[in-house]
Amino acid sequence: MANTANLFYKWGGGMKPDFPRIRSAHDEFLVTEDGRELVDAAAGAAVVNLGHSVEGVESVADAQLSELSYLSLSHFSHEAPEALAETLAAVSPGDLNAAFFVNSGSEANEMAFKLARAYHRETGNPHKSTIIGRWQSYHGATLGALSATGNTSRRSEYEPLLHGWPHVPPAYPYRWEYEGTPEEQAIAAAAELETTIKQEGPETVAAFIAEPVSGASIPAAHPHPAYFQEVRRICDEYDVLFIADEVMTGFGRTGTMFAMEHFDVVPDMMALGKGLSGGYAPISATMVRDEIADEFENGTGRSFSHGHTFGGNPLSAAIAAHVVDQYTDSVLQTGRKRGELLAAELEPLADNPIVGDFRQIGAMIGIEFVADRDTGEPFDPDLNVNGRVYDRALERGVYTYPGSGSVDGLKGDHLMLSPPLTISEPSVRIVAEAVTDAVDAVAESVA
Ligand code: PLP
Repeated sequence: MANTANLFYKWGGGMKPDFPRIRSAHDEFLVTEDGRELVDAAAGAAVVNLGHSVEGVESVADAQLSELSYLSLSHFSHEAPEALAETLAAVSPGDLNAAFFVNSGSEANEMAFKLARAYHRETGNPHKSTIIGRWQSYHGATLGALSATGNTSRRSEYEPLLHGWPHVPPAYPYRWEYEGTPEEQAIAAAAELETTIKQEGPETVAAFIAEPVSGASIPAAHPHPAYFQEVRRICDEYDVLFIADEVMTGFGRTGTMFAMEHFDVVPDMMALGKGLSGGYAPISATMVRDEIADEFENGTGRSFSHGHTFGGNPLSAAIAAHVVDQYTDSVLQTGRKRGELLAAELEPLADNPIVGDFRQIGAMIGIEFVADRDTGEPFDPDLNVNGRVYDRALERGVYTYPGSGSVDGLKGDHLMLSPPLTISEPSVRIVAEAVTDAVDAVAESVA
């Protein structure tokens, strides 16, 4: 199964025999070397939000390459990152107006952590350095981002991590045991953050990071809006910055430009990646509120000392600026409609004995597999339930995004569907048929 394969390529023939070799792609299709078309129901890793045939990218890239491909932004400026920063400020909520460019989602979060520390130092709180994360989250592969990550299967091999940062429970209504209405449960879940800040000592806590809608670990899990409204209140009360990790959810994935819009809350920083360039170039960004960025421009005169060699390079920036312009209201609406259609077509799964939870928000669907629907007991990981569903759907020509480890450690199987927002209706039906068939077949085999 793909996510257990060795990712090294070795000179002299160490290719990956288990992976289908892809020759090309167009629209929502990946074309294998032997000419098969697979429907990309994962949009890569929730990256190719506009599909594989975005008009105009090639000419933008050609034009940029013919003028300038690289520039060190430590000493020069250029129109492309400036234009991208302006575009991002225009589409970002509230006063998230300052953009800092990096190359990956992990780096966007690392940057946010460093900026949180630098900001508190600038504002007279040098001991505020701890980042609080949530269990069952994913914030990136680098050691700092992994320290904030709560997905134990992704962390465990690298323990001890750089930081022993604390984690609070995720916004995972399916497995919450709080009492009351969804709103009351959401407030109770958010209260765990307040408890942890108090336990740590507010004078030591720099920031809280959360995916607005969970991605890789518990796909599409999301709370009642009261959760993030309460998080915002708590962060304000204890002078803790709130970082929204929108690396996966940004750019229309959940039906709105950014997922925090569902909760009507503006974070202090917002990490972006994936859909920012729609997969056409490696580029990510951290958006920062004016109030925080201004501390470095207008405050004590100290700069924020951070940067990457390729950060904001003209080629990636020009491509991203073009891609971001394509996320029109009509594209976002199409994404919402296709997500709803896919959920409706998957309706038969509601009766499937191994489907414990089905979550949909925009063009993001999470299907959680359980051994017992009454208790929510996960499957034994050795059964590789999600891997088998993935394999079967792939045999039927549909690429999905499998995941595991959502419950405790290695336990917990699920599948994510995150097709391009522009996927056609016939392809939605192909995806739904293949996935339903795959889940039925696996359910029979484990019965
Ligand atoms: N944050 C979230 C929410 C993600 O889903 C991911 C990647 O899947 C990352 C951060 C890390 O991004 P990257 O793989 O570009 O470093």
